[in-house]
Amino acid sequence: KLPVIENEAMLNYAPGSPERAKIEHALKEMIANGPVEIPVVINGEKIFTKKIATQVNPSDHKKIVCKYHEADAALTKKAIEGAEEAKARWESLPFNDRVAVFLKAADLLAVKYRYKVMAATMLGQGKNIWQAEIDAAAELCDFLRFNCKYAEEIYQQQPPKNSPGTWNRTEFRALEGFVLAVSPFNFTAIGGNLPAAPALMGNVVIWKPSPGAVYSNYLVYEILVEAGLPAGVIQFVPGPAEEIVGAAISNPSFASLHFTGSTHVFRKLWKDIGNNIDIYKSYPRVVGETGGKNYHMLHPSLDKDGVRHAALQTIRAAFEYQGQKCSACSRVYVPKSQFADFRRELLAEHAKIKQGSVEKFENFSGPVISQFAFDKIKGYIQHAATAEKGTEIIAGGKCDDSVGYFIEPTIILTTKKDAKTLVEEIFGPVVTIYVYEDAEFAQTCKLVSDTTPYGLTGALFARDRDSIVAGSNLLRNTSGNFYINDKCTGAVVGQQPFGGGRASGTNDKAGSSSLLIRFVSTRSIKESF
Ligand code: GLU
Repeated sequence: KLPVIENEAMLNYAPGSPERAKIEHALKEMIANGPVEIPVVINGEKIFTKKIATQVNPSDHKKIVCKYHEADAALTKKAIEGAEEAKARWESLPFNDRVAVFLKAADLLAVKYRYKVMAATMLGQGKNIWQAEIDAAAELCDFLRFNCKYAEEIYQQQPPKNSPGTWNRTEFRALEGFVLAVSPFNFTAIGGNLPAAPALMGNVVIWKPSPGAVYSNYLVYEILVEAGLPAGVIQFVPGPAEEIVGAAISNPSFASLHFTGSTHVFRKLWKDIGNNIDIYKSYPRVVGETGGKNYHMLHPSLDKDGVRHAALQTIRAAFEYQGQKCSACSRVYVPKSQFADFRRELLAEHAKIKQGSVEKFENFSGPVISQFAFDKIKGYIQHAATAEKGTEIIAGGKCDDSVGYFIEPTIILTTKKDAKTLVEEIFGPVVTIYVYEDAEFAQTCKLVSDTTPYGLTGALFARDRDSIVAGSNLLRNTSGNFYINDKCTGAVVGQQPFGGGRASGTNDKAGSSSLLIRFVSTRSIKESF
């Protein structure tokens, strides 16, 4: 039996609290120590390749957070060979011994390294203190711990019947070969989960972290090592994507891709994997969570309180972490009768938002991750301001990259069903509102469903049961995570398994047994006596 698994309790960092003092200290220390150097790690050996790239602080991009040594195709090959050597021992360890590594890692993170990993997430990825706590502390601990519980459920799934003189069993083998984990900048927790989940199931993993999250991800890697992860089981391989990913997916032992990132890149990799299909020993398991164009849908049945609630939830879902969650709300559909109230409430909440460096805890809004992201998001805002008829910016809109990559939380109003910012993924602090006729709820649900290719998250705000049921049915295929009277972000591990379908991913649900089962190949065994 595993220990009882609970969600990691969130700390509140109130001024004067011990945790506030600890995070302040961790930030100070990290800044005072200056940029650290991060190696490639293969078979437990730290390799300083001297081909150096940098991760900057997006709140102040002149400041370098870390310098990391980049791997190349040859090192990736070496990492794969080392991982394959480590595999036999790792996969034959009793399940409890693998579990112990990840449970210990979660405890180390929760107690010993919480503030350091949070500081790296704040300084390196531009998360404010609350978002860093949700991600780098709570969610990552939860992934590490709940995966163990879900894995246990898998291993317990055994055939219910034996005929006389036989014993039937199911063996959940690790995949033959290695798993490639390609992780994103936006969640340190996802960075950790992408390699940890397959490794828990007995696999070996080549982990390519995002350039925007190398520092926090390396700290997570070191925690896994301190927790007892044997050398070679997860190889830490930062560097240029084309080279590392290219070398991995053209290797005959490639067995699985575990990916979170853009739809475009995921599709390209899937095609490349398809083109290589003849060289692989097995059909690779391709598991990915990608983009979204997530929505809030208000139903005409809402009362004034309901509208106020929907407005507040919209501010949170659209602008927390600058809209850079895959789940972020970026379009809202409001019935005409409620629009005046909704707009007033939304603008009142918007006016309270403070923006600036995440080192100042009062700032709700920080920077976006990079110059590339800044330019792309700014382009969408400019398009809405100047090039789209029937579209206007009703709040925010300013973009300033002189110090950090700051984009004001921006609210756009449009009368065009297919306005660019209403239908395309932006991945920034921009939300577009479309007002519909009260009598056209059903048609508007169809718009929600048909005007984007995505299906990640969505929320329905409605008052009575009939409307909730009607809306839920009409919106059935629009999201993998559907919220009723709540914002469309903030899935909690162990409570709302996360992932979407359509162009948003393979919907294998991070934080569930359906994800973990993708990383095993089952063997049915019949033994006769
Ligand atoms: N699980 C996160 C949420 O529910 C989003 C994860 C992501 O951005 O990929 O908000």
